[in-house]
Amino acid sequence: MAGEQGASAYQADREALVEAVRALFTNGVMSSTGHGDVSHRIDEEHMLLTVPGRLRTLQADDLAVVALDGQVVEGEIDSLKAEIADLHSEIYRLREDIRVIIHTHSPSVLAFAMANRVLPCRYEAMRFGQPSEVPVVPWARRGTPAWISGIVAVLADHPSTHALILGNHGVLVFGADLAATVTLSTVLEEAAAGELGADRLGGAVAIPLGAGAPASGGSHGAKP
Ligand SMILES: [Zn+2]
Repeated sequence: MAGEQGASAYQADREALVEAVRALFTNGVMSSTGHGDVSHRIDEEHMLLTVPGRLRTLQADDLAVVALDGQVVEGEIDSLKAEIADLHSEIYRLREDIRVIIHTHSPSVLAFAMANRVLPCRYEAMRFGQPSEVPVVPWARRGTPAWISGIVAVLADHPSTHALILGNHGVLVFGADLAATVTLSTVLEEAAAGELGADRLGGAVAIPLGAGAPASGGSHGAKP
């Protein structure tokens, strides 16, 4: 291991991940502390994973390459981050469609996490990335067997969800690529903010999906 600057085989992937994290800050998804974890499954066996707990000044060198079996291929991670790597590996093993995982304390989604409340799908923009409510995983102490198994169990129970609210903690957002996962993280923050704002007006209402047919004209043919 020469440890030379720029020696990573994944330099372009590293820079793309750093750009994605910058977009999370620009889009208002990050909490004031800048806490978060982001990983990107770069091939069948490996993921890139953010090493610092706080991401505001993240650089391309601040990423580790970790095999899904836990072996660290590039960089160094501590025991806490190794637990994060284990969690992300479990999620990647469970769901082939997931290639990116973003964990934040997204401020408005955090309100739902604090209340252990599901985030309903009542926002137009949310229908495309997460067309159902975001489930809640009950809080568990990090590092205990119940922590990872609890998250994986809720994910297994909701095989099409692209996000999980972590009770009393934050949110996990999943996607096929960095851009889609950043977008969904942003949309969920907007949806949560919209829900909280609508509460002051008597509460958000469900999207009247059954009322989506053309009101007149009849040129689109009969639909059930
Ligand atoms: Zn966290």
